[in-house]
Amino acid sequence: MAAGACLLRTLPTNSPTPGPSALRSPKPPRGYSDRSPTPISCPVPGSVAVYVHIPWCAAICPYCDFDKQASDFRLVDQYIEAVLAHMRSQPRRPSHSLYFGGGTPSLLTPARLERLIKAWRTRFSVTTDPEVTVESNPSDIVAHKVGAYFAAGVTRISLGVQSLDDEELRFLGRRHTADKALRAAEAIREAGCQDLSVDLMYGLPRQSLDSVRRSLAGLIELEPDHISCYGLTLEDDTPMGAEVVAGRLPLLADDAVADQYAEIQRMLAEGGFGQYELSNWALPGHESIHNLTYWRNGEWIGLGAGAAGSAAGRRYKRTPVVRDYTEAAMNRDPAFVESEKWSKPSALRDTVMLGLRLAEGISDMEFEGRFGTSLRQYCGPRLDDLVAAGVLEWSGERLSLTPKSYFVCNAVLGELLPP
Ligand code: SF4
Repeated sequence: MAAGACLLRTLPTNSPTPGPSALRSPKPPRGYSDRSPTPISCPVPGSVAVYVHIPWCAAICPYCDFDKQASDFRLVDQYIEAVLAHMRSQPRRPSHSLYFGGGTPSLLTPARLERLIKAWRTRFSVTTDPEVTVESNPSDIVAHKVGAYFAAGVTRISLGVQSLDDEELRFLGRRHTADKALRAAEAIREAGCQDLSVDLMYGLPRQSLDSVRRSLAGLIELEPDHISCYGLTLEDDTPMGAEVVAGRLPLLADDAVADQYAEIQRMLAEGGFGQYELSNWALPGHESIHNLTYWRNGEWIGLGAGAAGSAAGRRYKRTPVVRDYTEAAMNRDPAFVESEKWSKPSALRDTVMLGLRLAEGISDMEFEGRFGTSLRQYCGPRLDDLVAAGVLEWSGERLSLTPKSYFVCNAVLGELLPP
C-alpha cells in the first residue's frame, strides 16, 4: 500500500454521526491524553523533503489508482540509475527526510535502497536525525532484510497492514494474511525499529463496525508508534470502481463510514495516540516529519516515475511511464508531464486546504507574514460564521477544524474557501 500517496486523499464529504459507546475498559494512555493543538516541532527552516517513487508491485490490488505496475521488473536497475541521475542533478540544500513510496518499495533489495540513501546523503546537506521511511508490504518482510534496511540508514517503516480480517484482505487483493502482518510487525521490531507506522483501511464494502474495531484493537496491541487510517475511495477506472459503477458492488452508507471514523478516533485516543492529521495518529514525537512537509505546504522534491514535487518555485509531476522516465532522466530531462510556477492564489488556497487537515491548524501570523493577508481577510465573513457554528476554532492565533468536523473537512473547505 502506498501510504505516502494516500495522504492526498480526502475524507468523504458526508455528515458525521455520533460514534458508538465505549468498547472496553480504558488503558492508561501511553502518549497523549488529549488532542494537543501545540504545533509539532519543525525541521530546519528551508530544508526540503525528498520523495522517491518505486512503482513496482508483486500484484495489483483492484482498488488501487496509484502509479504502479507488476511487469518489466528487469528495468529496476536502469530505473534506479535514472533516479540517481535526477538526484545528483538537484541543487545542494538541506534535507530533513527521505521517503520511499510506491508501488511497493519493500520489493527493493537492501543494496539498492542503500545506493539511493547514500546518494541522498551525498547530494543534500542532511539534517541531524533525518527521517528515512520505507513503505513496506507485510509479504516482503523477513528479519534479515529489514535489519539490512536499518543498517542502510532507514529509520522508519510504514507497514501496509490494512486489515486483520483475512476475508477483507482477500477482497482487497492483498498478498498477506492477518497472521503474516502480525509476524512482519514483530520482525520489524526485533530488527530494532524505533519508528513503526501501520495502516488500516475502513469504509470497505460490507465492512462492519465490529470488524473495524477488531482490526484496530489488534493494531493497537502491536504497540506501533504511528497509525494511519484511510477510508476507501474508489476511482471509476479501477476494477473495484467499475464493479460499483456497474451496480454489482454496493458501497457502505455514508453514515456507517462516519460511525467507523468516529470509533477509530475514540479508540486511538483511548490508546494514547494523538490525532495530528485527519487520517494520522502518533505517539508524541512520532509524527511523520516528511508528511508534515506536505500539509504545511513546504517544499519537497519528487523523484521517479509519476512522482510529484513542489520546490524552488515550481510544482510538477513526472511521467508515470517507467521507460519514458528512465530514458528522459538519463538524458538530463526532468520528464515533467505537468509543471507550473508557484502562484500566490494557488499557494493561498493550498495552505488553507492542507493546513486545516492538521490538528495544529494554521498560524495566522505565519500566514500573514507569508502572504501579506490574514486568514480573515482571505476567507472573508465565512470564517467567523464557521467559528460561530462550532466547525472551526481559534487556539490563540491558530485556526483549526474542531475534531467533530474532521470527517466533513471537504464540505467545510467548500464553504470556507473563496470561489
Ligand atoms: S500494493 Fe496494492 S495498493 Fe499498494 S501500490 Fe501496489 S497495487 Fe496499489
